[in-house]
Amino acid sequence: MKTAIRKTPKVGFVSLGCPKALVDSERILTRLRAEGYEVAASYGKADLVIVNTCGFIHAAVDESLDAIGEALAENGKVIVTGCLGAQPQKILDRHPQVLKITGPQRYEEVVASVHEHLPPLHEPFVDLIPAHGLKLTPRHYAYLKISEGCNHHCTFCIIPSMRGRLVSRPVGDVLREAEQLARAGVKEILVISQDTSAYGADLKYAAQTWRGTERRAHFYDLAAALGELGVWIRLHYVYPYPHVDKVVELMADGRILPYLDIPFQHASARILKLMKRPAAAENTLQRIAAWRSQVPDITLRSTFIVGFPGETEDDFEQLLGWLREAQLDRVGCFEYSPVEGAAANQLAQPQVAAEVKRERRERFMELSKEISARRLAQKIGRKMQVLVDRFDGAVAVARSSSDAPDIDGVVRIPRPAKLALGDWAQVRITKSDAYDLEAKLEP
Ligand code: SF4
Repeated sequence: MKTAIRKTPKVGFVSLGCPKALVDSERILTRLRAEGYEVAASYGKADLVIVNTCGFIHAAVDESLDAIGEALAENGKVIVTGCLGAQPQKILDRHPQVLKITGPQRYEEVVASVHEHLPPLHEPFVDLIPAHGLKLTPRHYAYLKISEGCNHHCTFCIIPSMRGRLVSRPVGDVLREAEQLARAGVKEILVISQDTSAYGADLKYAAQTWRGTERRAHFYDLAAALGELGVWIRLHYVYPYPHVDKVVELMADGRILPYLDIPFQHASARILKLMKRPAAAENTLQRIAAWRSQVPDITLRSTFIVGFPGETEDDFEQLLGWLREAQLDRVGCFEYSPVEGAAANQLAQPQVAAEVKRERRERFMELSKEISARRLAQKIGRKMQVLVDRFDGAVAVARSSSDAPDIDGVVRIPRPAKLALGDWAQVRITKSDAYDLEAKLEP
């Protein structure tokens, strides 16, 4: 039976004005792309249009008002931002039907308005940004999406049918965007895509010049180049292909964060085969051991699905045994539920009962909690650099290289004299619990 799959939401963008306005436009686009929106090339192909306006001189105001009028006539759904947005009445007098008006540098509001009028797609097992992150992302970190789509056919996933095959962004575009983010004050870039280690395969790794040197559209070259920006680079959604080992060398050299997010999803060879997972035949335990001996500080994060159709108690025990040996630092676990349109729905395998799924998830999380608590306790007494994300009363809530926002733990710093949001800090770890650390500032 064929099921209708919701289309990828598409946003049109008109950017007028000065380089500052362009930075805003790029931040908005970076963000929307990361959330799974596509950028439409014409009004007709867009579900909604954002107009970033200029209000500097008369001519610019007229040009902006005309651009809004054109977008309304051609598309009908228009959000206005930028300098002219600081004078909303001017816009409303001529175009009362716009969906939202914000002033310059208010890209969080623009993105929230896009969510309201054109909600992002939700893909339960492989969403690239945690649900919480959709609401609020502080300005000192940003998600950088390097490709769309995917060449795999994991049976629980509908990304390939929804978004198509892998389409990588040219390496020059990605690097320019990253450079722009770093220049705008972003201190951490989180690299995302459905399959980060496959980056550039569709482009035959075509090289472009950046900062006077040829860079291939290749996972390694990209990671190495990003490592030159002087900000934290965190890699998400990496599959354990052999060339990942080279990228681990960059981590050993301190050029990118020693952090790998690898969605293993399971450890039983039978279930991985039913899931049709990429790199399922790799000996992952051996690889993990090798990475850890190369970079003892590496943080390994992963997600898993329990209760996949056909999963037996024996398969699940294999998964627990694997986790016990792999000692992953951070894990997330989903109970399997069928996704409309996914091939797994057609598998001739028995469904796992809801209470068994729940119980397996609990057992899995219990074990991962023990592992996490033990690994974090080993950090007590160590000095580390952290980035302050927010304040909880008198406590600064920060993250270390081991912590991706919203999905991993945090480092709490009580009474953090003189720290501000987005600051770096040198701290010494004083306490740990199951998922988080506590620290004091180093003089
Ligand atoms: S690798 Fe698998 S799970 Fe990830 S997007 Fe591709 S098909 Fe989906």
